[in-house]
Amino acid sequence: MTVSQTHATDRHYRVAAPARGSVVGRAEIAALTSVLEGASSLSAASRREAFEAELTALIGCRHALTVTSGTVALEIAIRLLDLEAGDEVVVTPQTFQATAQPLLESPATVRFCDIDPVTLNLDPDALADVITHRTRAVILVHYGGRPAEMPAITALAHAHGALVIEDCAHALGASTPAGAPGSLGDIGCFSFHSSKNITTLGEGGLITLADDTLAHRVRRIRDNRIDIRLSDAARSAAFTELRPWLIYADELDTGVSEIRRSGTNATLSEAACAVGLAQLERLGQMIARREAIVDRLDAVVSAVPGFTTQTTTPGDRSAHHLYTAFCELGADARHQVLADLDRAGIQVQLRYAPLHLTPEWQLRGHRRGECPVAERDWFERHLNLPCQPTLSDDQVDILATELDRALRSASSRHA
Ligand SMILES: *Cc1c(COP(=O)(O)O)cnc(C)c1O
Repeated sequence: MTVSQTHATDRHYRVAAPARGSVVGRAEIAALTSVLEGASSLSAASRREAFEAELTALIGCRHALTVTSGTVALEIAIRLLDLEAGDEVVVTPQTFQATAQPLLESPATVRFCDIDPVTLNLDPDALADVITHRTRAVILVHYGGRPAEMPAITALAHAHGALVIEDCAHALGASTPAGAPGSLGDIGCFSFHSSKNITTLGEGGLITLADDTLAHRVRRIRDNRIDIRLSDAARSAAFTELRPWLIYADELDTGVSEIRRSGTNATLSEAACAVGLAQLERLGQMIARREAIVDRLDAVVSAVPGFTTQTTTPGDRSAHHLYTAFCELGADARHQVLADLDRAGIQVQLRYAPLHLTPEWQLRGHRRGECPVAERDWFERHLNLPCQPTLSDDQVDILATELDRALRSASSRHA
């Protein structure tokens, strides 16, 4: 975008894009101090298990396993599919690269499925056209924290024998009458990166699962063990004598019929989980702050002809990770708004360029025209603005005032 050439440096922004998406303070410092001053291993499990128990209750899922990042959560989720040539995976194009990155190395065929122009979430009608009996998984995002159309999507996916993987990186704190994101599909992947709704010392993630066998595999992969297919037939007695000195003695009891792949170490540290527990205490307040900022900005946008907001289905609650609005007056008007906001000291970061048009996916044959709604949205329509709870009241005032000015100016010139 030409806008980047006019960018003020970060220190000139009066309202900057979120370097941090959550409030961090005394409670987090106290949690860290308690871990560091204690005597137990810094790789112990007590805070991790407590953090996972709270997340399980909050999300309403069956299993919640923390990992080192949202990217690693997605890598492990996709690994569980055991994809082979001929398999297909459906992915939303309106997302961060990590959602589909593991598929770059997969023998499966990736099909990008277009989105809804109001929600920017996967469009169930478009999915009906893209899904086939070869589809092994549908990977969607709750864009900006706004819950996707899960009942329609899971029904369609399950009717085709496909799993639904929810990228919930934006969605911690969101809910629907049917449950929270991360409990609605088969596998959920969350991020606790610094910019997200809560953080575990800057990096961290979570996998939620409905299925016990898949959860067992995730635990093995995460905890530096081998991803195996279990069988009663293949017991080994080779280590029986050494059994009392083995860390992972249950390996001997289960029997291994096949080694799928090596495991890894994706375990989140005690310090990170202690901070995560403190962050969860703040989550409700931080989402309420995001809601207040979004309501304020929505009121500004709705009052100007030619601009619309990303609405949420009645009864659902968005986690408002991103603030999104739309310019319906064409690319020139949208560009004018971006440039005006930048000049006024409001840092705009647009999320996200259609994934199928990024170099790595174009090199695999994906082209403009595959997802017309996502493309038009990116090139002509959508605006993202800061809405993180760390914004001061003064910054929210500046944001609302400058947004109003920029939209009215574009509206009067282009409407
Ligand atoms: C942040 C993000 C990820 C990756 O999470 P990390 O913890 O940064 O690895 C994946 N998907 C989406 C949509 C994200 O916004």
